Amino acid sequence: GIVLGIESSCDETAAALVTTDRTILAQHIASQDEAHAPYGGVVPEIAARAHAERLAPMIEAVLADAGMSLDECDAIAATAGPGLIGGVMVGLVSAKALAMASGKPLMALNHLEGHALSPRLADASVEFPYLLLLVSGGHCQILSVEGVGKYRRLATTIDDALGEAFDKTAKILGLGFPGGPAVERLAREGDAAAVPLPRPLKGSAEPHFSFAGLKSAVLRAKESGEHRDADIAASFQQAAIDCILDRLAKAIGSAPPADTLVVAGGVASNAAIRGALETFATNRGMRFTAPPPALCTDNAAMIAWAGCERLALGHSDPLDIAARPRWPLDPDAESVRGAGV
Ligand code: ATP
Ligand code: MG
Ligand code: FE
Repeated sequence: GIVLGIESSCDETAAALVTTDRTILAQHIASQDEAHAPYGGVVPEIAARAHAERLAPMIEAVLADAGMSLDECDAIAATAGPGLIGGVMVGLVSAKALAMASGKPLMALNHLEGHALSPRLADASVEFPYLLLLVSGGHCQILSVEGVGKYRRLATTIDDALGEAFDKTAKILGLGFPGGPAVERLAREGDAAAVPLPRPLKGSAEPHFSFAGLKSAVLRAKESGEHRDADIAASFQQAAIDCILDRLAKAIGSAPPADTLVVAGGVASNAAIRGALETFATNRGMRFTAPPPALCTDNAAMIAWAGCERLALGHSDPLDIAARPRWPLDPDAESVRGAGV
């Protein structure tokens, strides 16, 4: 089967055609970094307008690249949440219109499911269950991925997401937006032991994350004027890595046994974090795998792939399904623990 995927939940407009045997037939992605850079973050109205302008020609372009017509697709998949509601609606409404016009099934997908299943697009040998570290701009979670639609959340952040911490650190250091890649680049020139920074929640009984205190400490380090920016970046990144490994070790104790550790989401494109996770997994006799960086940051191939996974199970969604600004992958965790934790 072939699935058309559409992504528009944040500030990347993307469309892709992916087959159920893992071939990316075509994909286009347009970042809006330049449009949002002057504001230091994503402006929802600007994002929604940009998606609306770019999406239709982009869908035409991926079909043209693959030399296909819409009728040759087996399903139309779009992110239906969570994310900025204006952008999500642009993508979902486009998918509904295409599904209606072609008579093909609609898949209204959770963006986080796209991230969560992306390791299986990149690597056919990744089987359920696996332990997933999901680290992105809006989320920082450890999940047991037990099947398509079967996600058990073991840990989440009690304040900031890891990508957010990278972005705030970049802002403090004057590195611009988006911040993650810039912090990673600067960190390569710094001494990770130079600046004493906290490891929030390290050693605590529950495997949750916290990054707000780390960000505040980065701000104090910068304002003290005593440290090189590269040393602050490197020390921040090392503190984040130490937190991740400590929390993962804790989560593994409470997770059903999985022999594979995977990382996904925008922060998973960070080479230092990938390297640390690989060593961590190897030391525990676990396999480690991560999608290539371009499949970690937002893209439509992961949405098309999640659609492929659901197509294989015969799922589809009604054409009147609503977009959801908030949409946890594991609703049980959300209702039991309440918002935030
Ligand atoms: P979510 O997926 O939670 O809805 P999002 O879609 O906005 O949020 P992603 O595109 O998955 O987020 O990831 C973007 C985040 O990843 C940003 O915070 C960005 O700074 C971070 N990021 C990207 N590349 C790197 C990197 N090399 N190192 C660290 N962080 C990075
Ligand atoms: Mg982006
Ligand atoms: Fe994302």
